[in-house]
Amino acid sequence: MKVLVAVKRVVDYAVKIRVKPDKSGVETQNVKMSMNPFCEIALEEALRIKEAGLASEVVAVSMGSAQCVDTLRTGLAMGADRGIHVEATGALYPLTVAKVLKALVEVEKPRLIIMGKQAIDDDCNQTGQMVAGLLGWPQGTFASKVLLDREKQLATVEREVDGGLETLCLDLPAVITTDLRLNQPRYATLPNIMKAKSKVIKKYTPQELNVEIKSDLEVIEVTEPPKRKAGVIVSSVDELIDKLKNEAHVI
Ligand code: AMP
Repeated sequence: MKVLVAVKRVVDYAVKIRVKPDKSGVETQNVKMSMNPFCEIALEEALRIKEAGLASEVVAVSMGSAQCVDTLRTGLAMGADRGIHVEATGALYPLTVAKVLKALVEVEKPRLIIMGKQAIDDDCNQTGQMVAGLLGWPQGTFASKVLLDREKQLATVEREVDGGLETLCLDLPAVITTDLRLNQPRYATLPNIMKAKSKVIKKYTPQELNVEIKSDLEVIEVTEPPKRKAGVIVSSVDELIDKLKNEAHVI
């Protein structure tokens, strides 16, 4: 069984985001970029499935600029067997990414797609759901535990929902999106970083996959959140209650 893992290159989670002066987006020039943390979790889960003898190959896929190859190399150093880079410039919205993944499914024929529940740059939380919809596959989103039954070709997915845990049983092939508590991704070791240099990364253009890069949405403006006002130190509980009542009007 082959597992396809979608890994997105995003601004590193520790970087303080700066909005571009023309408000067209966030600054990505000269900024540290990394694999989206939820995609690291997705890849880790795929590697654990392979190590448990339940998958034969883990293929990492990334879409975007030429630098996505660095993200794929990180994935290969973690343990993915090979990479696929779909090179595209400009903004890629979830529906386009989902169409590209669907096209790759037709070429690669995986039985499972694992991806992050959301990319931390645009926080869309849409791509997994869309690709499952386009393929007509069952989906287990926000997975906090995954169990596979190879004989029965089933995946059992536990999800953290508001009231507790929901357990879903999915027929394979299926799409799973990962939540934070699913696992702790491994670090790539130096020997594996060296080995990753000789692993194959296949390149496609969206045209080769018959996907048109066009968007039906337009980002109008990206702005900084309003600056938080400095706090005040109150001298007594009575003063606090007075301010909450008469200034903040919250009690
Ligand atoms: P989103 O729906 O944009 O929040 O992204 C959810 C997940 O879709 C990510 O965690 C990735 O697994 C996948 N994904 C989105 N965009 C890309 C991309 N450009 N390349 C690879 N995977 C992506």
